[in-house]
Amino acid sequence: MLKSRAIVLSRENFGEADRYIQLFSRDWGLISVLAKSARKSKRRYVGGMDLFCHNEIVLRGDPRGKPYLVELTVLNSFTGLREDLDRLVVAGKAAQWVRRLSNTAVAMPGVYSLLGQTLALIEKTETERLPLLQLIFQIKFLDQIGLKPRMDACAKCSEALDNAAGVFDIDAGGLLCRPCLGERTVAHSMRLGEAEQALLAQGERLKLTLWDQFQFPTDSTRNLLRLTTQFASFHTQTQLPH
Ligand SMILES: [Zn+2]
Repeated sequence: MLKSRAIVLSRENFGEADRYIQLFSRDWGLISVLAKSARKSKRRYVGGMDLFCHNEIVLRGDPRGKPYLVELTVLNSFTGLREDLDRLVVAGKAAQWVRRLSNTAVAMPGVYSLLGQTLALIEKTETERLPLLQLIFQIKFLDQIGLKPRMDACAKCSEALDNAAGVFDIDAGGLLCRPCLGERTVAHSMRLGEAEQALLAQGERLKLTLWDQFQFPTDSTRNLLRLTTQFASFHTQTQLPH
């Protein structure tokens, strides 16, 4: 028997009574487990099958195969995430990013705790601040999977960015120096202000424990959300939700 902590990311009915549950686990990363009779017996899994539930799980079989879920204890059911549409949507997008961009069955403890912390904040933060939270999650997540926008030098030629115009090129994956600017594809680039550049460059260092004190303009938040989503989609060849 194997034990870990894990967050429910999706569910899929299987056969007449069973269900495959996709979870992000602390010890094996993204896994898919078979919950026998999950649709017949609610008692057996005590409400821990709902989306975003954080559970202690016990498995039988290889976690990297399709192990059986033997037992489950709910640590936090995150009820507030499913009762409010705005929160549900943002939590759903975070779950999609993790599902589509994490390698299967590789332990990523940083992603596991980022997801848990983010869901806890989505549940309790003010609704107006949800887009900003989503953005910080995306920046931190990209850093965790090693897909960081290049902000310290030209993303195309690696020259210094003295007097650069602050233009971010999605295809190149970062800011461009002046000489490279002329050759850019206009449709796939975005001009960024200083605060936007700073957040992209260092946003992964923000502590979520200090989330309440962090402020950022709404317009810039929307710009950067569009940018991080396009950037991540392009460089992973994955269609990601905005
Ligand atoms: Zn350049």
